[in-house]
Amino acid sequence: MKKKAIVIIVVLSSISLLGIVLTQLYWVQKSMDLAEDQFDNSVRIALKSVLNRLLDNKNDTVFQQHLYDLSCNKPRLEVTDYIVPQMLDSLMWEELVWMELGDTYSYAIYNKNNNRFVTGNYIDQEEALLDSPFQFSVSSIYKSGDYFLSVFFPTKRSVLLQRMEGWLLMSVFFLIVLTISFVYVIFAILQQKRLSEIKTDFINNMTHEFKTPIATSILAGEMLMKPEVQKNTDRIKKYAKVVLDENLRLQGQVEQVLQVATLERGGQRFRLKKINLHEILKSVIESFELRLKENEVMIKVDLEAGEPQIVADKTHIGNVFYNLMDNAIKYSTDKPNVEIKTWNDKYGICVRVKDNGIGIDLHHQKNIFKSLYRVPTGNIHEVRGFGLGLYYAKSVVDFHHGRIHLESEPGKGSSFDVYLPFNK
Ligand code: ADP
Repeated sequence: MKKKAIVIIVVLSSISLLGIVLTQLYWVQKSMDLAEDQFDNSVRIALKSVLNRLLDNKNDTVFQQHLYDLSCNKPRLEVTDYIVPQMLDSLMWEELVWMELGDTYSYAIYNKNNNRFVTGNYIDQEEALLDSPFQFSVSSIYKSGDYFLSVFFPTKRSVLLQRMEGWLLMSVFFLIVLTISFVYVIFAILQQKRLSEIKTDFINNMTHEFKTPIATSILAGEMLMKPEVQKNTDRIKKYAKVVLDENLRLQGQVEQVLQVATLERGGQRFRLKKINLHEILKSVIESFELRLKENEVMIKVDLEAGEPQIVADKTHIGNVFYNLMDNAIKYSTDKPNVEIKTWNDKYGICVRVKDNGIGIDLHHQKNIFKSLYRVPTGNIHEVRGFGLGLYYAKSVVDFHHGRIHLESEPGKGSSFDVYLPFNK
């Protein structure tokens, strides 16, 4: 997929997701408003019902008689004589609970002219009751004065949320799932894209790497077929050596790719034996002899470890240091300076391969042990490689329960420390 198409898809999907989230929030808010309206209506119905029942009670003949008896002893009947506090309390409870409005509420009957509270459960809630939108005149029951029945719900918001809990939870759940899936898909696309770029790079690289030795071998072969060359044993030897060298180079490259492939499939067998790491390092350095001379490499070897014996796979460990040495020379400036040093600690041995080469930017350091990763310098093809050497090295070191650590500064050089435990 083209980069532009990916960017467009990511932007469009992000906008759509944001749109879905905003729409969802809008609907949640709408539902909240609707639930609130429903709640308010229920309160009004409940209060109306309370007042109607109080009115019915007032008109009851027994109660009328009771009021008459009271009026004989009192000069003036109070509102609380008409609306008996205990009765009001139980009616409020019955009606509000019946309408499922929760059982946390304050109510009061107060005089609107002087804000005097006469009955109710209004302790510390006077202000809220005065401002409450649920106020009903009780003039149908008690004429004189300007008395109102007011109710306030301190937990109204949580009652509403409780009612919508299921919907809210479902919305939040689906939105979270959607967002996580979206982010995952975007990351997967970007990763796939990166992988496909790396693979294309690898294939280009590999084709180029294989083409050169094959072309040189063909050329040398053609020369060998020429009668004038066949008469000259020196020239035969020279061209035969070219064929041999190029094929060995090819073999080395194929081997590296195959080794990593088997390692990834888990099919690689490690033959663990007691080995002398110093011997291995010496033979690796020897195999570089020609290249060291060719590239005028200054090499300093300090094999200081008193105990170089470890239990490990000789071939693979050899390959690890071969790769590190190879990189130290490959990624160097004019006059490569390579240092190889060993030392012991209580549990194992550490080998340092240090160079004064181009170094690695901090930003790339965490990636260079990944399969096929190559630092994308100006021209990646200037120095040949598949981006497998360090990945292979880390896999082998990990198998031996060791550690590989890099310290590097661009322009100054790199230092790879490989720690291998004795594995006794
Ligand atoms: P390659 O075959 O490309 O050398 P490696 O896995 O050995 O693959 O290394 C991965 C990348 O790490 C290289 O492409 C190079 O950019 C960087 N690198 C490795 N060793 C060194 C070093 N000694 N100095 C600078 N860069 C290095």
